Amino acid sequence: MTTKYIFFTGGVVSSVGKGVTAAAVGRLLKERGFKVAVQKLDPYINVDPGTMSPYQHGEVFVLDDGAETDLDLGHYERFIDISLNRVCNVTTGQVYAEVIGKERRGDYLGGTIQVIPHITNEIKRRIGLVAKATGAEIVLVEIGGTVGDIESLPFLEALRQMRSDVGRENSLYIHVTWLPHIGATDELKTKPTQHSVRELRSIGISPDVIVARSDQPIADELREKIALFCDVERRAVVPMVTSPVLYEVPLVIERSGLGEYLMDRLGLQARRQPDWTAWEKLVAEVRRPKPVVNVALVGKYVELHDAYMSVREALKHAALSLGLEVEISWVHSAELEKGRNWDLVQQADGVLVPGGFGSRGIEGKILAIHYARENKVPYLGLCLGMQLMVVDFARFALDTEDANSTEFDRSTKNPVIDLMPDQRAIADMGGTMRLGLYPCHLQPGTRAAAAYAEEVVQERHRHRFEFNNAYRGSLGEAGMLFSGLSPDGRLVEIAELRDHPFMVGTQFHPEFLSRPNRPHPLFVAFLDAVRQRGYLAQKPDKLQTAEISVG
Ligand code: GLN
Repeated sequence: MTTKYIFFTGGVVSSVGKGVTAAAVGRLLKERGFKVAVQKLDPYINVDPGTMSPYQHGEVFVLDDGAETDLDLGHYERFIDISLNRVCNVTTGQVYAEVIGKERRGDYLGGTIQVIPHITNEIKRRIGLVAKATGAEIVLVEIGGTVGDIESLPFLEALRQMRSDVGRENSLYIHVTWLPHIGATDELKTKPTQHSVRELRSIGISPDVIVARSDQPIADELREKIALFCDVERRAVVPMVTSPVLYEVPLVIERSGLGEYLMDRLGLQARRQPDWTAWEKLVAEVRRPKPVVNVALVGKYVELHDAYMSVREALKHAALSLGLEVEISWVHSAELEKGRNWDLVQQADGVLVPGGFGSRGIEGKILAIHYARENKVPYLGLCLGMQLMVVDFARFALDTEDANSTEFDRSTKNPVIDLMPDQRAIADMGGTMRLGLYPCHLQPGTRAAAAYAEEVVQERHRHRFEFNNAYRGSLGEAGMLFSGLSPDGRLVEIAELRDHPFMVGTQFHPEFLSRPNRPHPLFVAFLDAVRQRGYLAQKPDKLQTAEISVG
């Protein structure tokens, strides 16, 4: 079939939920039997978000092929249950790097290189790559930012041209906007939506569908009004009231009738009736009051929960599968260093240290790990969290405060975590870590092997440092088990402690492969241990039911 394209733009304000909307529309199409892929076009000049602070950008989501991408790709993968490819995240930086590289090679000899057509052609070429690389029949393309931003203009121009390139029947534009609520008159306002549609029109794009987000219920006449003023069909206005349950969004969009509208407009015939039974069950399960377990997530970007998006989702998926509600206490590691916020760690029945870089707050994380080890509190360490678990254990087992990772102390006498040999000659910071999917062999009889119930697993990585094998003997004798290894046995992928209910650290990032309907086995095993500790400690306040919120 001819590739169909659906383009998503955002209006009025940023953070309007375009990523989740695109992911949910992708799910609608998958439910109808189509193969879909989603691409994010990011207007910033970095080549990828890998070199950006999570404060700027939230989490960096890593794909199977090692691409470091925008966190929206995490939404796409989780909602649609697909694995995306590096062509699915394009930035202005990549586009310009390609065009300038060609210019230097002489590919355009004699020509003046311009935004139109050279940059826009390169954008269109990259949009075209998605279907080829993924085999998708319907390609969804989300443009980062808000209509009106200077940076996104070349992308919007490329999208405008796509309609005549691929034809009206093969392309569709969805504009996601926000309806502000005026408290004094208790009214929802459509004017900003009208303005952003006008802005989009001035660029030459007429949206076919408007998804109107709001925190308040959207009355039918408002839907009429948006249709009238923005010149779209009434059934092409999708009211989307904020739901406390993130995974409800596909159901909300389905109920609005958008699925059928997309079929009509793109001249498609659904290959099967969408079956939402499993999703409805999932959403009902999220809403059902459940026993609460508390996990302290100790990091340094905890003010911005988006920095740990996939970790949070993975915890929620695992909790759901165990009939639990997980409550996350966000603990700033630098505060722990100052002796503050320890009550949050002490109240929790599990401690999790996620990935991270740089020395700020490192000792605070080690203190939290030390606490979990000594008090037999279930612990899950992800990447940096695994490395610091090794540092804490080495300080104890070797009886020296000197043990460290050379990332934080180059001259430590006990470099239990050290730069990987193939990283030593690398000077560039961008895209040069050990990235993407690698196999891990599980060692029988360990907690990790029991959790996975498999011999070999594939997991996504993003790191420069590794366990220093010179310490396998001494730490092994003291009770550390190397429960996951690379196929050649050289690289420690999972470490755990023998004499502890659950203290497991992974060099990889299991959170990237967790799905709402397929929780990650290590997260499930961790939360199971957390639950057991909660019951054993008999803290009735922890086990009472609570209102649920996901999102
Ligand atoms: N900074 C550590 C490394 O580079 C850990 C990376 C991470 O947690 N993703 O190995």
